[in-house]
Amino acid sequence: MNQPATKRPVCATCLRARSACICAWIAPVQAQAALLILQHPLEVGNAKNSARLLHLSVTGSELAVGESFEPGALEALLHAGGRTPVLLYPDTPGDANLPAPPPMPPLPAQALRLVLLDATWRKSRKMLYLNPALQRLPRLALMDAAPSNYRIRKAHAAHQLSTLEAAAQALGQLEGEDGRYQALLDAFDGFVAQQAAYTPHLNSA
Ligand SMILES: [Zn+2]
Repeated sequence: MNQPATKRPVCATCLRARSACICAWIAPVQAQAALLILQHPLEVGNAKNSARLLHLSVTGSELAVGESFEPGALEALLHAGGRTPVLLYPDTPGDANLPAPPPMPPLPAQALRLVLLDATWRKSRKMLYLNPALQRLPRLALMDAAPSNYRIRKAHAAHQLSTLEAAAQALGQLEGEDGRYQALLDAFDGFVAQQAAYTPHLNSA
């Protein structure tokens, strides 16, 4: 995106204009599983995107931007600290272009790294196709998805969650926790309300 002609002060933490800073909604949480967010470049400038808030909230999480990642760099991100990466992604039965993923390893959350693709559904598929290392990962599918609070973005399906909500749910699932991420989700409600205030036409929908 082009920079505006007049310089606006930018928050060094969330990288947004100070007037649109989202740092008030950072709810620090220590996850047992490591968290790696692979963000599609088209999401970087998206004000409604929740991945950076997620990254800022989950201690030690990594956020890397790209569509097709350099294989060596991706392997290093996936396996940092000797953890076993698992990909949050639904099953793709019948897709002959993708190999069947290996089963989920019987490991505790402390040994795992949750890998998220922060992208639209179409772009997340493209990221999967473009990065064979991601195709080889065991896949975690969400159970009992709660209705999303994510009102600010048209979802392809009613159960589709924001990246932040999906991460909170997946981490809770891996860790057997049902309360650790509530503060994060509560703070996210504030983020959603802030973004909705900037786009009033969506409130009337
Ligand atoms: Zn900020």
